[in-house]
Amino acid sequence: MTADSASDPRLARALDSLRGLSVGDALGSQFFVPVNYPLLKERALPPGDWQWTDDTEMAASVLAVLAAHHRIDQDALARSFADHHDFDRGYGPAVNRMLRLIREGGDWRELAAALFDGRGSWGNGAAMRIAPLGAWYADDPEQATHQAEISAYVTHQHREAVMGAMAVAAAAALAADPAGPPTPEGLLDGVIALVPRSAVAAGLRRARGMLDYDDPATVAAVLGCGRRTSAHDTVPFALWSAARSLGDFERAFWATAQVGGDVDTNCAIVGGVLAGAGAGSPPKEWLERTETLPGWVRAGQA
Ligand SMILES: [Mg+2]
Repeated sequence: MTADSASDPRLARALDSLRGLSVGDALGSQFFVPVNYPLLKERALPPGDWQWTDDTEMAASVLAVLAAHHRIDQDALARSFADHHDFDRGYGPAVNRMLRLIREGGDWRELAAALFDGRGSWGNGAAMRIAPLGAWYADDPEQATHQAEISAYVTHQHREAVMGAMAVAAAAALAADPAGPPTPEGLLDGVIALVPRSAVAAGLRRARGMLDYDDPATVAAVLGCGRRTSAHDTVPFALWSAARSLGDFERAFWATAQVGGDVDTNCAIVGGVLAGAGAGSPPKEWLERTETLPGWVRAGQA
């Protein structure tokens, strides 16, 4: 796949976004290790190399399916999620079980619909993996939200989870606009215009009204920061944070990580949204210390 990325700007942008997502995910997840807590306050990097988690593994499948099909093919996406599922990457229990059942021949349509007593999952898992898709569709944010919606259903059928994925895809598309980056207000206004009525949309409007707050902890206390791992408790804060630091990965990471909550997923979303635009790339050292992307996505196999 990387051989083609030079000739396909969509793929190049999506790979940049995926790398940024993986850095946010891998570095963010370091702060679940208690010995690293004090480093967060000092904005100091944890030692060693940083392994990414489920956020990156699933995002790699989204990108691989896009590269192979030039759109989201739900069956191919379900197969890729199941085939590449590594139990030790920090998936939630419901997804672990579902991906195992798909590998054993189960139908993702039935399995995803049956989750949580038939309500479907409203977790942030469809949003955490979708920024590279937004970067792919940087010239067409509407198509980004449409394809994100289709991609969400494979695992997350609750309306809020779907809206969360649409919002992150829209943000990543707008942030990577080939015509240049939007203002913070422009980014959130653009996202709000593309996300139908929902708790996620209500949270985004509140986030828009708090763009001039300088204290991420206060904003996280109002919007949520993934402590309940729901889409509506995760996406508004992550996009508030991304909007305020477009073009500055380091600043965005620390502002996002310092509030706690679902740190790896919050930082995966922010990292993926920023890095789809060249100016939002992670620092070189951070990229070098992050585990490389899975070999199968680099080789272009869905
Ligand atoms: Mg994770």
